[in-house]
Amino acid sequence: MAIDLEVIAKERAIKYFLISYTDLFGAQRAKLVPASAIGGMARNGAGFAGFATWLDMSPADPDLFAIPDPDSLIQLPWKPEVGWLAADLWMDGKPLEQAPRNLLKRMVERAAAQGLEMKTGVECEFFLITPDGQAIADTADCHEKPCYDQLALMRRYDVITEICNAMQDLGWQPYQNDHEDANGQFEMNWNYDTALVTADRHAFFKYMAKSIAEKHGLRATFMPKPFSGLTGNGCHAHISLWRDGANVFCDEKGELGLSAMGYQFIAGLLHSAPALAALLNPTVNSYKRLNAPRTISGATWSPNSISYTGNNRTHMIRIPEGDRLELRLADGAANPYLLQAAILAAGLDGMENGRDPGRRLDINMYTDGHSVKDVATLPLNLLDALRALEASDVLNEALGAFIPSYLKLKKQEWNSFTAHLTTWERTTTLDC
Ligand code: ADP
Ligand code: MG
Ligand code: MG
Repeated sequence: MAIDLEVIAKERAIKYFLISYTDLFGAQRAKLVPASAIGGMARNGAGFAGFATWLDMSPADPDLFAIPDPDSLIQLPWKPEVGWLAADLWMDGKPLEQAPRNLLKRMVERAAAQGLEMKTGVECEFFLITPDGQAIADTADCHEKPCYDQLALMRRYDVITEICNAMQDLGWQPYQNDHEDANGQFEMNWNYDTALVTADRHAFFKYMAKSIAEKHGLRATFMPKPFSGLTGNGCHAHISLWRDGANVFCDEKGELGLSAMGYQFIAGLLHSAPALAALLNPTVNSYKRLNAPRTISGATWSPNSISYTGNNRTHMIRIPEGDRLELRLADGAANPYLLQAAILAAGLDGMENGRDPGRRLDINMYTDGHSVKDVATLPLNLLDALRALEASDVLNEALGAFIPSYLKLKKQEWNSFTAHLTTWERTTTLDC
């Protein structure tokens, strides 16, 4: 039976609901609704002027309605009288085609029609910086190889455990927290789940990490490359596919324990990789994490080429164990819903078309990548990635009207970037 939000509000002493949706650029937009009004909002949705957010709409469009999904309810751990709800967008009595959560639900249904369910876990790296955004907050966190630094991790005990305790109470099954490869960088891991649940949790995790960091006088950033020379914020996705409760990627007899379906899924991701980058590496800054020169710590940990491997972290796709694969492409700017939708679209294409991933590479891609001639490289900038997305039959077919909307808005962003006169240009060109 559907959850009745009015009843839940009384039972759990919820005074307000945040009816929230994620737009095409990953920004979360919300209305704060008193519990006394949630009955009507749950039926009809909260009204928004869609053009005011990144959705490719017109100011002349009728009202956009955000209809909350009661299954997504999360009481804010730092303010339990508020219940957060992920919403689906409707206009003119129909779901809005380009809305990211609607898009993911369509892809999940497409997989379900084949009896398949994708389960994923995401690794959302972030930095804790000063509120003005200028510097790493912990000035003592300055070592060359700071990964897993015990002292620096424990100096952030209060903020990390507040977030981890919250995940525990929410039933996400968190299992580890660490200091990552860049100064000031952290990662917190919780258990994988179905694509929609992981996308909602991913969206909420970003909101929660930012909110709790702010409470502690800090700022959390998921920006792909906030500091040149330091490792950037990745958002690796671990992926498995299930049928009737069984993981169809597992096959004891398969190479590295991975089934033929698993290899076809990999082939689908490789085939669409340049176009996927437009969605998984969605900002101008994303391309300073990909294709980056070696960082101070010794490695970027991000891919440059379109290749796959076994348990080796220098490639775009890693097979850590036969039960899953890890796509290391996405970064902290990836929209949680588009990330899952795009992975599913590309992976299903690999299976539907019986694609072949080619040979596995076991080399250190950072030092020996030049020794293999037939490996394609990832797009060098956002414009190249957008052009690859425009040309992708696979993603255009699967993601439909969302693609032209996304391309239109992202090309505007690229044009705004190129119209910007930089200090670098003046320094290198004044004396031309
Ligand atoms: P890494 O070794 O890449 O740093 P982490 O432990 O940080 O890995 O993250 C692994 C993620 O993969 C977690 O979210 C975990 O729940 C998830 N995961 C584990 N097994 C599976 C699986 N079979 N399918 C999908 N995700 C999985
Ligand atoms: Mg990890
Ligand atoms: Mg990883």
